[in-house]
Amino acid sequence: MTTTRFSPVVVRELDRRITEALERSAARSTALRADAGQALDQLDVSDALDDEASDTAVALHIEAIALAVSNDHGTAELDAARHRLHSQSYGSCEACEAPIVLARLRTLPETRWCLRCSQSIEVQGRRLTPLAT
Ligand SMILES: [Zn+2]
Repeated sequence: MTTTRFSPVVVRELDRRITEALERSAARSTALRADAGQALDQLDVSDALDDEASDTAVALHIEAIALAVSNDHGTAELDAARHRLHSQSYGSCEACEAPIVLARLRTLPETRWCLRCSQSIEVQGRRLTPLAT
């Protein structure tokens, strides 16, 4: 793996950005799971089978759970980014191995790809799978 090109000051800054993003993610996870629970609380079990309010509650519950799962994925990506940051493998594109510009890492510290590869991956609808090398 590539050795990090960042100074200790920048590594500390990126670590702080990842920590802050993890804190926001944890708060979002708590809020989404609370939303999911509150949606279920709206469910009237006695006439849940054919009731528009119950349908809405179930839909809101499912949406909140889906958002929470997506958020969990983001949390895992942030954890992985912190690991890469401290294992010297951070900041190089996993598809083309080019350095990822610092401005991109500051904005999206969990990113695994340079902007060019990220756009290619998104165009192909494979956001989580790097391009073949
Ligand atoms: Zn790339």
